[in-house]
Amino acid sequence: HAKHLGSGRVVVADTARSTTLARQVQRETQLAEALRTDGLRLHYQPIVDSARHIIAAEALVRWPHPEQGMLSPGVVLSTAAEGNLLDELDLWVLRTALRAAADWPVIIETNLSSNIATESGPLDAVGTVITESGVDARRVVLEITETALAELSEPVLARMGALIERGVTFAVDDFGTGYSTLARLKHLPAEYIKLDRQFVAGLAAEEGDRAIARSTIDMAHSTGRRCIAEGVETTAQYEQLVDLGADAFQGWLFSRPVPAEDFAELLGRDPLPTT
Ligand code: C2E
Ligand code: MG
Ligand code: MG
Ligand code: MG
Repeated sequence: HAKHLGSGRVVVADTARSTTLARQVQRETQLAEALRTDGLRLHYQPIVDSARHIIAAEALVRWPHPEQGMLSPGVVLSTAAEGNLLDELDLWVLRTALRAAADWPVIIETNLSSNIATESGPLDAVGTVITESGVDARRVVLEITETALAELSEPVLARMGALIERGVTFAVDDFGTGYSTLARLKHLPAEYIKLDRQFVAGLAAEEGDRAIARSTIDMAHSTGRRCIAEGVETTAQYEQLVDLGADAFQGWLFSRPVPAEDFAELLGRDPLPTT
């Protein structure tokens, strides 16, 4: 076929493809390097109770890339997935967050990526990182998305059980965006349900979103769990969620995710004003 297209076009296409590939491979190498040299950053976002007291900090990754500026978690995660670095990333984030938050009087939450649900090795390493940090395991919450939790295998469940024995708790992240049945959810060893921010965004205007928020909160409570609402941006959303009985709240209304030094400052201004 190449002949009919004319050699110029083929060469251009090949060059474009190999440039993209080269850039991708280079980014994977750079991420591996960043993981080795602490070249990534964590921002921390407060989670508050209904009196606006800070109860937890969620660590969120950022990558100050040498040429491409500050890269979002989406780019970090896709690069890590391509480069087979997801486990290393999760462990780096946990290790770094536990070090930064060692003296904070709050719970520290980190996100585990989806492959944690299918492999048991990473969760063993998570246990080791917590032990080595010296942080009380009861201060550690591990978030796993609803979608990833749908694929839990028996060996992984056993590892989660072992961590729970030590005091670690799990949270279902982005709840409402996956397809878990209530029957399945009943068996998930998670203490917290995080209501996805899309339903919080629609609270005022969308009857359906309000119904989903209400039933998620009620379901959490009737199964002995607690519900954290994500993406709270307005006082109206906050008040509605308090009325619906949500237990904890996270969002720009209280604070954007901030560097560790700024988070320490937020702790000094507790309870947080609604800005
Ligand atoms: P997530 O775990 O659901 O984290 C919450 C996301 O919502 C964060 O985006 C946060 O900045 C954003 N957010 C917080 N409050 C508000 C608000 O009031 N309004 C709006 N519109 N957004 C708000 P971020 O930091 O870009 O992270 C995006 C996602 O990337 C996270 O969603 C999480 O799934 C993933 N992620 C972030 N850091 C890590 C990490 O260290 N490891 C892993 N495995 N995943 C991570
Ligand atoms: Mg999360
Ligand atoms: Mg979330
Ligand atoms: Mg979310």
